[in-house]
Amino acid sequence: MNPGATRLPRMARMLGAGQLLAAAAALSVVGGTLLAYQFVTLRHGLQADVGIHARVLAENISAPLMFADREAAGDILNAFKADPALVDAVVYDQGGREFAAFRSNTSAPGTLAQLAPAWFGPVVLQQEIVYRGRPLGRMLLRAETGAISTALQNYGALFGLASAGALLASALISRRSRMRVARAEAKLAYLAYTDPVTGLPNRRCGQEALDAALAQAEDKRGCAGLILIDLDNFKVVNDSAGHAAGDQLLHEVGVRLRAAARPGDLVARFGGDEFIVIARTLASSAELRGIAEALMEALRRPVQLDALEVIVTGSAGTCVFPHDAATASELMCNADAALYHAKGGGRNRVGEFQPAMMHATQRRARLERELRRALDTEGLAVFYQPQFDCATERLVGVEALLRWMHPEHGFIGPDEFIPIAEECGLIVEIGRWVLERACRDALDLGRRCGEPLHVAVNVSARQFREKDFVRDLEQILSHTGLPPGRLELELTESMLMEDRSAAIEFMHAVRALGVRLSIDDFGTGYSSLSYLQSFPINQLKIDRSFVRPLPESGQMLAGAVIGLAHDFGLTVVAEGVEDRAQLGWLQRAGCDYAQGYLLGRPMPLSAIQELAGSVEAA
Ligand code: C2E
Ligand code: CA
Ligand code: CA
Repeated sequence: MNPGATRLPRMARMLGAGQLLAAAAALSVVGGTLLAYQFVTLRHGLQADVGIHARVLAENISAPLMFADREAAGDILNAFKADPALVDAVVYDQGGREFAAFRSNTSAPGTLAQLAPAWFGPVVLQQEIVYRGRPLGRMLLRAETGAISTALQNYGALFGLASAGALLASALISRRSRMRVARAEAKLAYLAYTDPVTGLPNRRCGQEALDAALAQAEDKRGCAGLILIDLDNFKVVNDSAGHAAGDQLLHEVGVRLRAAARPGDLVARFGGDEFIVIARTLASSAELRGIAEALMEALRRPVQLDALEVIVTGSAGTCVFPHDAATASELMCNADAALYHAKGGGRNRVGEFQPAMMHATQRRARLERELRRALDTEGLAVFYQPQFDCATERLVGVEALLRWMHPEHGFIGPDEFIPIAEECGLIVEIGRWVLERACRDALDLGRRCGEPLHVAVNVSARQFREKDFVRDLEQILSHTGLPPGRLELELTESMLMEDRSAAIEFMHAVRALGVRLSIDDFGTGYSSLSYLQSFPINQLKIDRSFVRPLPESGQMLAGAVIGLAHDFGLTVVAEGVEDRAQLGWLQRAGCDYAQGYLLGRPMPLSAIQELAGSVEAA
């Protein structure tokens, strides 16, 4: 599991405690300010009260003072008992001797000198007693602040109680919302590291786990292994049975890989139909191979998808750290090269990384870059191979065959670069370019020989899956002006069998434009004759492997294909005709057209133009 998932809730908890502390501190400041304000207000009130008492006393005490009537003075002072705050009221005569006094029991008697006013002590007021400008004596009033303290204590307690209540409520609310946030964060962390279809760790998690596994292996001076797995025919299931079935299949694959891997290994879905297995500890590369074989074996069992039973196989590439690669990215790259080899070697197998593979992969990557450049800089050319009518031996058409003149490697055959172009998608653009060229050249060749020559163009699986293909085809036909009936598209059996319903739809759309369809390499693919009925095709092209043994052997097969095609109303072309005897047999068997080195090799435009011109002359 990722470390982020536990870190987040802890952080949320800490954040919550911090917020609560801050709120408590703010409340303390507010409470303190209010208490201070309250204190100042209450003390001012007390001072004002003492001032009033002083004024009342000054007015009434003059006569007793003047007449030295202590009794009357005592009566006046006793009246102050009514004010519980006033604890001392003392009157002194001119000589400073105490003349009369009122003292509450609790208060300690003070002297004039001791009773200097202080902020937190009692409120003290000393004042001269004057009658008509003549000083008679002094008075001292002292009020206790006990009532203020009690009021402030009560106020403080109330405020504290209210604050604690508010804090508790907010703590509860924030705890609840924190828990909600923590739950949401944990879910986000789960989603960020988990593949929703299989429930396995996703690419990001896999990459982090790989880094960690390599670091651990390095620390322990041990080995770690990477297995890259790619399903061989997932696309077919996904396209034909639908995405829900595709997801179901991926889920089942995930379950099987998890079950087949060792408990300590990490199984992750890397995206699409790609999975990885990280062997965190490894004794040898043979052990990794063993794990990979077990994984492939687990995939071979049929998978039941609702009513449908499918068989998916996988290919795997393995690579060992630190033996084959020093870094995680190098390990990925090398495992990918091994996987590519496993696929190239016929799929459904395990490929172990060998240094030589890297050269092949690098060459491929370079070719891909250069192929793009070639398309932009006219580095590609279309060659034409003539096709002849078997009966009349006249030129009837040409097959367009792509060539790449590489500035360094020289001529690179389509068998090497078409798969690269298919994989990187460049075939769509290249195919469009070939089609346009072939249509223009066919018009020109037809004019030269005075016959409506047709042109056959090869279409790859990737092109025919492109949804704009038919629209592009229509545009090219209208641009170039080639009558659609003179264009023939060559499709292979295998690509049509991958997704039959899509293939039939595509073929009907092409036929609706008036373009003809031919099945290339007939007999080498799935060889299901039943589809001949359901596919709207015009022609079969017997593969050259059937032509090669003729006329000594293989007549049964070649004869059956020709007969069958005619029964279905299709024409037949034989390709790879290299000698006279083969041609003779084909002519006698009723084959319609022939193509091969005997009759003409694929040649550049200028050469086929010459050939077409000579046909006219003849
Ligand atoms: P293909 O369509 O089966 O083309 C026939 C291949 O057989 C050509 O190879 C041709 O040169 C070769 N060939 C013709 N006559 C003979 C013969 O008498 N004997 C022998 N041994 N071989 C003969 P090429 O040109 O190397 O093309 C290879 C494949 O590349 C083609 O097979 C086709 O599948 C693909 N390809 C060629 N051009 C294109 C293109 O423009 N687009 C696509 N998608 N594929 C193309
Ligand atoms: Ca062909
Ligand atoms: Ca062929």
